[in-house]
Amino acid sequence: MDTILNYIGGRHVPAASGNHLDNVSPLTGEIYALIPDSGQSDVDAAVRAAQDAFPVWSQMPPEDRSAIMLRLADLIAIHAEQLAQAETRDSGKPIHHSRNVDIPRAEANIRFFATAILHTHAEAFHTRAGVLNYTNRKPLGVVACISPWNLPLYLFTWKIAPALAAGNCVVAKPSEITPMTAYLLSELCREAGIPAGVINVVHGLGPRAGQAMVEHPLVKAISFTGGTATGAAIASAAAPRFKKLSLELGGKNPNIIFADCDYDKMLRTTLRSSFSNQGQICLCGSRILVERGLFDRFMQDFTALARELVPADPREESSRMGALVSESHMNKVLSYVQLARNEGGTVHCGGERVLLSGELSGGFYMSPAVISGLGPECRTNQEEIFGPVVTVTPFDREEEAITMANGTAYGLSATVWTRDLDRAHRVASRLDSGIAWINTWLLRDLRTPFGGVKNSGIGREGGEEALRFFSEIQNVCVDFGSAPTL
Ligand code: NAD
Repeated sequence: MDTILNYIGGRHVPAASGNHLDNVSPLTGEIYALIPDSGQSDVDAAVRAAQDAFPVWSQMPPEDRSAIMLRLADLIAIHAEQLAQAETRDSGKPIHHSRNVDIPRAEANIRFFATAILHTHAEAFHTRAGVLNYTNRKPLGVVACISPWNLPLYLFTWKIAPALAAGNCVVAKPSEITPMTAYLLSELCREAGIPAGVINVVHGLGPRAGQAMVEHPLVKAISFTGGTATGAAIASAAAPRFKKLSLELGGKNPNIIFADCDYDKMLRTTLRSSFSNQGQICLCGSRILVERGLFDRFMQDFTALARELVPADPREESSRMGALVSESHMNKVLSYVQLARNEGGTVHCGGERVLLSGELSGGFYMSPAVISGLGPECRTNQEEIFGPVVTVTPFDREEEAITMANGTAYGLSATVWTRDLDRAHRVASRLDSGIAWINTWLLRDLRTPFGGVKNSGIGREGGEEALRFFSEIQNVCVDFGSAPTL
């Protein structure tokens, strides 16, 4: 049995209470590690360690901060295989995904922000002759980073990297469902020479450890990625305390397919955008809207491809469909397939629990489901399912597709498939989403703004937006125009 520890003030320590939580591997359904069940006193110790470290870290020249962070990126690269295996065991995702997406992206996140701070600049405003305004960018102090289970190290580093690069000290909490790679990263942080207290990792439950971080009076900002209901709870705790808040929340993303698209590219990409990471990516396109003329062909080809996505041992390089993250999540996703049936939908394939053999027989596997015959207002088409379940709905006119695409409470991302240049830009500009892809999906440039509208969140991550979030901008106004008079 592995034991995960908190990382506070440069030391690995258990929860002050001595209590722990079970960590289950979705591959087998078995408990394989213990996690500290941290509470207020652990969070308080972490925040105080961060506060103590802040003067040295915030005043360190950016070149030196950058060099330390680059050492961390190098260490992630050196330990990539160990981290990938840990991610797969902890989250159930195929090792192919961990090796090619999660861990390389975690390294890239650190590298990106470590180098970004070498290229930032202040703004200056020449107000009139003799009057100049300029901006000072200051780190906030202690900030909290709270991340979810679907892309554990990827999203954990996506938050801590800009926070640290901007000169803040961090108290971070990974999801209690997938804590392992954040724990391994905390060891690498020490090896990289990040001074004690600059980054602290507190493990535990959201309503205990997470809530204590949000409510702590010394925490100046909260960067949160997770579910919309949790985001609402965090916002209501943070607002009266006047904390900066970045919320990256759920999605119900539309994938609009016009009949004139590049069919083969669309089909391959749509399979990926539907079922990558077992559909547990906030950007997955779960509502596929297809122009009527293409509908029958699409349904036939897409269902055939979905049937080929058979869950298999996630530790095998060839596996493309792993386990869902937990038993309760799998049951929630399966219940939505039943809901779709109750709402009158037709399940063309999948949507069943799959039992693998041997030591994997207790794992949380299900076959990907393709559903049609549902109206846009039904719950299956309105609520985030966050699993390998998509609905396919025909449309006749562009306007109808836009109305359906925008017709949920969410607005994270959207995809448009067409070869008509005018239509592509016209439709993208009318979508209520923070991100729109045209003829592609999940093609990321870390400099671009990332985030959602409506119930999908507040604020933007990525590039300059993230560095701004983790900074306080002070304006300095200088009047040097008039000579002193006696
Ligand atoms: P979750 O909201 O249950 O948990 C996310 C994190 O918040 C965990 O670390 C959890 O412990 C913590 N938490 C829970 N309650 C808390 C509280 N009261 N105070 C402070 N922290 C608390 O989400 P999840 O189930 O881990 O993740 C899945 C959700 O995340 C999905 O809705 C998905 O769409 C969303 N997500 C969004 C993005 C994005 O960029 N918009 C990216 C990935 C995942």
